[in-house]
Amino acid sequence: MKLTFLGAAGTVTGSRFLVEEGGHRILVDCGLFQGYKQLRLRNWAPLQFDAHQLDAVVLTHAHIDHSGYLPLLCRLGFRGHIYCSHATLELCRILLPDSAHLQEEDARFANAHGFSKHKPALPLYTRKDADECLERFTTVDMHQPVVVAKGLKAEFSRAGHLLGATTVRIASAETSVLFSGDLGRPHDPILHAPEPPLPADYLVIESTYGDRRHPVVDPEQELARWLRRASDRGGVTVIPTFAVGRAQALLLYIDRLKRRGEIADLPVYLDSPMAVDATLLYAQHRDDHKLSEEDCRRMCQAATLVNTPEQSQALDGRREPMIILSASGMASGGRVLHHLKAFVGDPKNLVLLAGFQAPGTRGAAMLRGAPTVRIHGMDFPVRAEVGQLEASSAHADADELLAWAKRGARIPRNTFVIHGEPEASEALRFRFDHELKWPVTVPEYRDTYDLDANALL
Ligand SMILES: [Zn+2]
Repeated sequence: MKLTFLGAAGTVTGSRFLVEEGGHRILVDCGLFQGYKQLRLRNWAPLQFDAHQLDAVVLTHAHIDHSGYLPLLCRLGFRGHIYCSHATLELCRILLPDSAHLQEEDARFANAHGFSKHKPALPLYTRKDADECLERFTTVDMHQPVVVAKGLKAEFSRAGHLLGATTVRIASAETSVLFSGDLGRPHDPILHAPEPPLPADYLVIESTYGDRRHPVVDPEQELARWLRRASDRGGVTVIPTFAVGRAQALLLYIDRLKRRGEIADLPVYLDSPMAVDATLLYAQHRDDHKLSEEDCRRMCQAATLVNTPEQSQALDGRREPMIILSASGMASGGRVLHHLKAFVGDPKNLVLLAGFQAPGTRGAAMLRGAPTVRIHGMDFPVRAEVGQLEASSAHADADELLAWAKRGARIPRNTFVIHGEPEASEALRFRFDHELKWPVTVPEYRDTYDLDANALL
């Protein structure tokens, strides 16, 4: 068995891992690169394998950095199945068409303003590509091994990171490798804890927070403190949020805080049609989380849902205190950009970032204290307070990653640390090496390992 790291090596985005065995090949995850331009350009580079020759894709979860290349893969000739959990498919039905829409918007904007060297600038993929790729999806139950290519089986188990998120073990007759996907936290208020690792010869583990320990903070109280700061000074709070997962947790916290009288009863707007659709999915996938029917109902009612672009833009004319939740989570696109333009210049206001901000995104720049933020080709001074919610992460921290790995029934022949910025991956590698004494490697982009020989090719 051979394993090639075609993404999420030295960075947190672009998860793509090619597994080859006996003349067959599958891809585990098929994500977009995001963040720095040099990374985003990889989305446009020729594929390192022939899409026609790929037997299947196995998808750990729906986030775009794991799924967002699928429409292009299908357009390039992939004709196999895409295997994933039920909720992952439902979320992809929301996320992939939206991703295509953003690609089309980018191309339109570049053409209108003459940004691109290419005339005309074309989208990476279109809505039609996204719709066509959704027809290739096949859903699989947790712990039901499925043959995904001749001689290769996949088995999913719960990762606790997002609705439907999984870890997946790929096994041939001789060799097995477990991919952590993105791993959640053991005590998430909404999702079930990650299940223990399935036994495998090799482990491929994420390291988003491989160099960090999450603070022991009650996420509701942390959110309450920030919201009170902004409302006390009469400001507007803009929360760029991932439409799926984070937005729902925030809605639940806001509802609980309001009912206990811990924050002012301000109007709350959920300005992301995608987030609205995703919120409704929680009621349909009750096995995938810990929320009661009542919680789901309250989550749906915690905010005024903003549907049309006109309603969205109307919010920007208002100056009274309010809370706007809008995608995208790293302010790299979406409706939140209009709200940032309107509110980032006033020191009364608060931009509250939630979740990991990949380097190169506007979210990361604002957190670093950038004096201006560039949106739609113009620079806007950042005078609003910029804060970050640290407690409500959807990723395990370094201690939690190690604790999870140790629960496995056997020590892997090698552990590959991926899906982290270089410092984070190196910090986690060091801990596997020094604390657990496990063989461990940080693979580089495009490295191929022969897993039968346990050697870099
Ligand atoms: Zn994820």
